[in-house]
Parts: sequence; C-alpha cells; structure tokens
Amino acid sequence: MTSFHGSRLYVFISYLIWPGIFAGGLVGAYFAFQSPSRLLWFNVVYFSVVATIALFERLMPYEQTWLKRDGETFNDIAHTLLNKGGVQIAAAIGTSFPIAVAITARPAFESPFHLWPTHWPMFFQAILGLIVAEFGLYWAHRLAHEKLSLWRFHALHHSVERLWVINTGRFHVVDSLIKIVLSQIPLYLLDAPLPVFLWIGAVTAFVGLLTHCNIDVRTGVLDWVFSTPRLHRWHHSKVLAEGNTNYGENLVLWDQIFGTFFNPPRPSSVDIGITGKVAKSFWGQLVQPFSTKGYRQIIGRNPAKQAKPAVEVEAASGEVSAAATPAVPAE
Ligand SMILES: [Zn+2]
Ligand SMILES: [Zn+2]
Repeated sequence: MTSFHGSRLYVFISYLIWPGIFAGGLVGAYFAFQSPSRLLWFNVVYFSVVATIALFERLMPYEQTWLKRDGETFNDIAHTLLNKGGVQIAAAIGTSFPIAVAITARPAFESPFHLWPTHWPMFFQAILGLIVAEFGLYWAHRLAHEKLSLWRFHALHHSVERLWVINTGRFHVVDSLIKIVLSQIPLYLLDAPLPVFLWIGAVTAFVGLLTHCNIDVRTGVLDWVFSTPRLHRWHHSKVLAEGNTNYGENLVLWDQIFGTFFNPPRPSSVDIGITGKVAKSFWGQLVQPFSTKGYRQIIGRNPAKQAKPAVEVEAASGEVSAAATPAVPAE
C-alpha cells in the first residue's frame, strides 16, 4: 500500500476520482431522468455513487484517523443502518428532497414573468440555473453561520469530528428547508423549467457526496469552480476564520465575489467540529434547537455573552476577509 501511495498511478487516480465520480453520477442521472420513475432511479444512481466513494475511502483515505478511529468503518455503516436509520433517511432526504419538491411544485406554479431562456440548450440552462440557485444556497449557508438563530440548526452538520460520505446528508430539516426555499424560489419566479431543477438536484447531490468524502483526491483547478473536498474541509475547521469561509454548495463563484473564498497553499485542516454539543439521538437532534436549553447546548455558551470579537487569522494566503469572520461558535 505504501508503494502504491507514492506511485504515479496513485497521483493519477487521485486526480481522476472527483471528475470521474461526478461525471459518472451525471450520466446515471441522465438515464434516471429519462425513465418514468425518475426519483427511484435517481436514488439507485445516488447510492451507487455512495458505494463507490465508500470503496475509495478505504483504498485512498485523506485522513487515516477518520477511517481508523475504531477500525470498524463498514460495521459503522451497518450499525447506522440498523440503529440510526435517521442518518440514512436524512441522507436520502437531503438528496432527493429538493428534486421531489420541484417535481411536485414546479407544474403547479405559474410565474408571472417569463424571463427564462428556454431556447438555450439544456446544458447552458442548467449552468444558469446552478448559478441562480447557488446565490440562494450561498446566503442560506452564510447566514446559518453568521446568525446564531440559524446556526442552532446548521450546527448539527458541523458537529461531526470526521468527514466521510455518510456525513453528507446530516442536516437539520429546517436547515434544508431554508436552503430549498432560497435556492428554488428565484427559479420559479424566472420560470425555469422542471429539467433545470432536476439537473441542479443531481449536481448538488453528487458534489455534496464528494465534498464530504474522506478520499485523498486532488482537484487542482477545480477548486476555483466547484466546492471540492479540499475547500469544504476548511469550512469544517474548528478555527473560526477558516470555518467561516467557502459557503458554496456546488460552485464557489459567490464566495469569490463576496470575499469568502479560502484556499491557502497547505493541506486542509483535519481538526473539525464545534464548541457546543448536539444531542446524541436522532430525535434529540431534531428537537434540540427549539428549546432554550438545547439552544444553549448547541452554541456552547450563554447567548447573552456571545459578543465575541471577530478573529482575524493571518492565513498563508491572506484571503480571509473580515466579512468571513463573524461571531460563530466554531473555535
Ligand atoms: Zn456550514
Ligand atoms: Zn459539510
């Protein structure tokens, strides 16, 4: 394994994994969307991608401790399925939910504006849709970090101490709903057709799985376009000024425009997590943000004493802006 790790083949494969899995997922999605049971086949493709990523996490892990914390990675998954089905359900909902909402809501919504360029090839319509949706996703995510009233829901996603494929769907349902509303409403108003929503859903699903994977991928120039594992690991960092960056869900365009893009020339942090505590059980996690006690547990301190000054970090790249360092409990 050591010789494989240092080999040219290893480097070659590490460059190939991200674009290969992403493209493979999209090809699968293309066929799924042609079928009468779009959602069913899309989920088949989705879980095939999950299986592929899980395999590469064992073959080429980015962080050994995330893999070997207990040496029971596959047992973990089995226990997750058996005892903590909520995590799996959350993963499936996080993936298919936006698509399911669009399939139901899109035909029922008649926009007063007909601004969408329906004459464009679907490829370009999908790119436009991604950019528009990403604006809502960016601000939903950024506000979830900058406003404690929203962080109470988003903290669940950041409470993990290792990143791997199973973390992808770990979002509080309120957090997910806010993202769906902010990303989809502009598209309804612009009168984007259903296939645009489907492709955005597909891209979001596969980019999401890849951003959380514990695979030693090399993404090079892709870091300047997509939310890659390298960028997203910074986002999960315990260091405030590193964590409050890279809010992009699929694209990093809005991070670049609003000054929160962070990609210093060093390996991304493996020290991830939050200061506060989230409940242990699935149901506990769901209800925790709604009580004062739960809220205090989540933020890890009394909200009245929250006036924590923004931290400026002299990052190697110097790319962290003041706007990227709000008072959020991730230290
Ligand atoms: Zn976040
Ligand atoms: Zn994440």
